[in-house]
Amino acid sequence: MIRRPPPYAPSGVALAFVLALVIAAPSWGDRPQETPGVPPGTQLPGTAQAPADAGPPSWTGKAFREGVVAVSHPLAAEAGARILENGGNAIDAAAAVQFALNVVEPQFSGIGGGGFMMIHLAKTNETFAVESREKAPAAATPDMFVATGSDFTGASTSGISVGLPGTLLGVATALRNWGTISLGQALAPAITLAEQGFAINRFLAADSASFRTTLQPETHALFRRPDGTPLQEGDLLVQPDLARTFRLIAAQGPDVFYRGEISHAIVAAQQRTQIGPTGVGRMTLADLDQYNVKIRQPITGDYRGFTLASMSPPSSGALTIIQMLKMLERFPLGDATQGFGFGGTRTLHVMIEAMRLAFADRAVWMGDEDFVHVPKIGLLAKPYVDSRAAKISLASRMATPAAGNPLPFDAARGPRRLMLAAALTEHPGHTTHFAIVDKWGNIVSYTTTIEQGWGTGIMVPGYGFLLNNELTDFNFVPNVATGNPGANDVAPFKRPRSSMSPSILLRNGTPIAAYGSPGGATIINSVLNITLDLIDHGMTIQQAIDAPRISVTSAGGFVSREAGFSDAAIAGLQALGHSVGSPAPIGSVQAVVIDLQTGKQYGGADSRREGTVIGLPRPRN
Ligand code: GLU
Repeated sequence: MIRRPPPYAPSGVALAFVLALVIAAPSWGDRPQETPGVPPGTQLPGTAQAPADAGPPSWTGKAFREGVVAVSHPLAAEAGARILENGGNAIDAAAAVQFALNVVEPQFSGIGGGGFMMIHLAKTNETFAVESREKAPAAATPDMFVATGSDFTGASTSGISVGLPGTLLGVATALRNWGTISLGQALAPAITLAEQGFAINRFLAADSASFRTTLQPETHALFRRPDGTPLQEGDLLVQPDLARTFRLIAAQGPDVFYRGEISHAIVAAQQRTQIGPTGVGRMTLADLDQYNVKIRQPITGDYRGFTLASMSPPSSGALTIIQMLKMLERFPLGDATQGFGFGGTRTLHVMIEAMRLAFADRAVWMGDEDFVHVPKIGLLAKPYVDSRAAKISLASRMATPAAGNPLPFDAARGPRRLMLAAALTEHPGHTTHFAIVDKWGNIVSYTTTIEQGWGTGIMVPGYGFLLNNELTDFNFVPNVATGNPGANDVAPFKRPRSSMSPSILLRNGTPIAAYGSPGGATIINSVLNITLDLIDHGMTIQQAIDAPRISVTSAGGFVSREAGFSDAAIAGLQALGHSVGSPAPIGSVQAVVIDLQTGKQYGGADSRREGTVIGLPRPRN
């Protein structure tokens, strides 16, 4: 039974300038004293105010009024929709969706991982992120991956890459502060799915063929058929260990995970190694006991009268996306008569060049700002962004750009440490994004992960959940050794740099859309593509999700692209000097759109996975 809620969080003191409120695991028993949040419309220098007369966009489709849930799996979407139907709010529904995803998409996210839950509270117009990114353990060292021989596959399937998991504490923190149901109520749909089982979809079936399901006996036993072959679409997957774990958490709260019996099992499991002693995890019970969630202020930037709020460090998402948007604003991307327009060679060319410039900066300047100074003001300052964008020529591809120096433009910041990091080799991964709006207008935009598909492949024996390999998002080779102070080098209790970019788009200070994607560093570009499709190309949210995407994640500039762009456009890019790959899918975007003037709500979901929109009230047959 779900308690009937107030439309948003319990009352608290709205803080005007709380940048990061630490909610520490050891103080679990106490509710935080304050309601963290950020002033709406907080802007960094170089951004312009949206015009007040801007009308509502028409990013429509089928309209709803009492809430929309957009998730990459129908059973998880159903779990969230039922919470809304029973009077829960968007935060309640998000909690239920996350736990259900742990069951039906165990390869993508779960309590063994971390994530960023962007929340918008309708009543106070606050937008903030519950940040539950994994952290390095106390014994982590900058050279710990060098000691593995920089063996990515070996390290990423061994305990050495397991970060302190944050998802459970993140969800529990969001529920306790802004939700209206108990942790047990949020876990209930997931417990049912895990106990009764469900018919797996084609994506889980395909992913079960990964070698990562073969490395550990518990993972092999659950995610392979008895004869060792991969699961097949339609197979019934029952997860009694995970159900028991969820029941334990429902009964005892997150304490049982961070300092109770589950913590002992996690610490033991991350001793597993595929590469000998250098692969053994360094996490201790004391590390898990001190894990903390943070409330982060999103970074915002304006683009053609809209404002994008996205994820701040330890994510590189917002800074990179907004820098690209500010570089692209000078080009008439929507105007086909000038050689631009959707899919036009010029449009794709300037997008690629902006990506190359922004990713050069990302590689050097971005990391966990609790440990390094990230020059957020400088990176988005108009004179700095203008100087970068001036390198873009319509006539040809630029030579490989180096990172710029935003520090002279960053004077608004206090004392800073001059830290540079060299580029990290990117690798693909798997994660998931979902978006929810409730009937009061509260919004959740949540990207959640265990890093690669199946994480390390290490399942906690007897507890049924997989451990992440998030620490592989750190630099494998410390950049300090090459003369560059490493923004993303490993350090004790540091969070690895992320690309996850749960985003909320606003107009005149009010949210009108929420979206994000999985896909490692390509996440940043998927969010850029969607933003341009909506604003410059006038697409509906579903058209934007369906449209082909383009992505470059390094200054060197190899171009990844999806099928659907014209041969002429690709040939045009090649003539300009770009190296363009064969078509392959990029990301999986789930989104909601809100028209506050009419009260109508819309959803969009991605067929690149089993994306599902459930709108309320449900249509009657
Ligand atoms: N570990 C990745 C990140 O935080 C997410 C995984 C993915 O989507 O590839 O950026």
